[in-house]
Amino acid sequence: ADILEINVTEIIKTLMMAGSMVSINQEIDFDTASIVASEFGFEVVAIKIEDVVSKILEEYDEEESENETIRPAVVTVMGHVDHGKTSLLDRIRKTNVMSSEAGGITQHIGAYTVNVKNQSVTFIDTPGHEAFTAMRSRGAQITDIAVLVVAADDGVMPQTVEAINHAKAAGVPILVAINKIDKPGADPERVKQELTKYNLVVEEWGGETIAVPVSAKTGEGIDNLLEMIVMMSEMEELRADASREARGSVIEAQVKRGKGPVATLLIQQGTLHIGDSIISGTTYGKVRTMIDDKGKRLKKAGPSTPVEVSGLSDILVAGDDFIVLENEKEARQLAEKRKELQKGERVRRTNISLDDLFSQIQDGNIQDINIIIKADVQGSIEAIIQSLEKLDIDTVRINVIHGAVGAINETDVLFAATSNAIIIGFNVRPDKNAIKLADTEKVDIRLYRVIYDAIDDIKKAMEGMLAPEY
Ligand code: GDP
Repeated sequence: ADILEINVTEIIKTLMMAGSMVSINQEIDFDTASIVASEFGFEVVAIKIEDVVSKILEEYDEEESENETIRPAVVTVMGHVDHGKTSLLDRIRKTNVMSSEAGGITQHIGAYTVNVKNQSVTFIDTPGHEAFTAMRSRGAQITDIAVLVVAADDGVMPQTVEAINHAKAAGVPILVAINKIDKPGADPERVKQELTKYNLVVEEWGGETIAVPVSAKTGEGIDNLLEMIVMMSEMEELRADASREARGSVIEAQVKRGKGPVATLLIQQGTLHIGDSIISGTTYGKVRTMIDDKGKRLKKAGPSTPVEVSGLSDILVAGDDFIVLENEKEARQLAEKRKELQKGERVRRTNISLDDLFSQIQDGNIQDINIIIKADVQGSIEAIIQSLEKLDIDTVRINVIHGAVGAINETDVLFAATSNAIIIGFNVRPDKNAIKLADTEKVDIRLYRVIYDAIDDIKKAMEGMLAPEY
């Protein structure tokens, strides 16, 4: 009645005549509302709440940031298991946080900030490319620099390669930390040599990759590593406008005793204040308290700062974005509507599949076909890559964004979902979780026993001749 500017009683009368006995307090569904509105000569158009939120985010992004200043880099540590990722994160925190913030009690909130020569650097506390890609698959692009940890006594290992591929696909620059140089068997030169195979050529050999020898155990080289991170972030010219309303990503979320649902938010743009109304996913919140990683209570927090906030109506989801809305009522309503919608069908993501490859190429929607190859032996991966390279047609490029030995796992599927890629399994199968995830994320997994068949399928898909697989 409000929108149509028609008296409520008129509307109720019309409804009654149509057989709906309703009072002013009752809700009517979309179809009924459409019919009533059409009686008065109006046409009703459904707006998806997701679209409303996307529009708010889009408008935010399009708006000029007028007061941009340098912001701290956000760093994620990656590398092979046991190469010292956790030790490195601990060492950096210990040597750079405790001493400078006398009296503070370290809070594990999922990320922390250190000071390097009057510049800040923010580290994400969960190391590994799995966490990195899981966040990315939810739309969070938070990492500015990936620190790749390689143990000097072990060299480049399978997960080192995975980490390199995940960082590259995300377009995140890599800085190498050659760790465990205190160990007798350490051979940093060998590590540098092995890295060249993956196009990471260190500066002293004419490349652009910075590699810093460190020991997370003794602390040797850590200062140097931090200085290199600052230098790299200066080269990246990372900027943000602190004068705007805040938006960013959720890093961690949980329920804390006495505080209710809390979440660690990484502010990527603008400044977050106590009392701000935020929406994230289907959750609404009004920031009640805010603490940093030293346990200090804050009234406001600017770009690249991780803060733990309370005042949320529910548990947030890591990797979701959050945005501050001027109007508290609007934020609450949007969150509620989003929740209602989610009760119905889950919002489906569209991912590329071999079957619709041709039409997408024809429509000019894709110029790049991203492929992930998992195989039983390394030789097969290389053979497939070589054959695929020969397939290139003028308008489309095939990129093998990742190739590795082993079964197809959840991380592969998330990586494919994030990068809009097809997974090819050669003499390997997806594990149970991978199958489930591929189903919800709509990722196309193709299994082959003969290389020729794989190549032939892709060729046919590119030419629009593939018989659909049921
Ligand atoms: P992550 O799996 O990559 O997180 O590796 P961790 O940080 O858990 O380290 C694995 C093992 O290597 C632990 O036993 C650490 O104590 C040890 N370690 C880590 N960094 C160093 C180092 O610089 N020197 C030596 N000698 N040992 C290290």
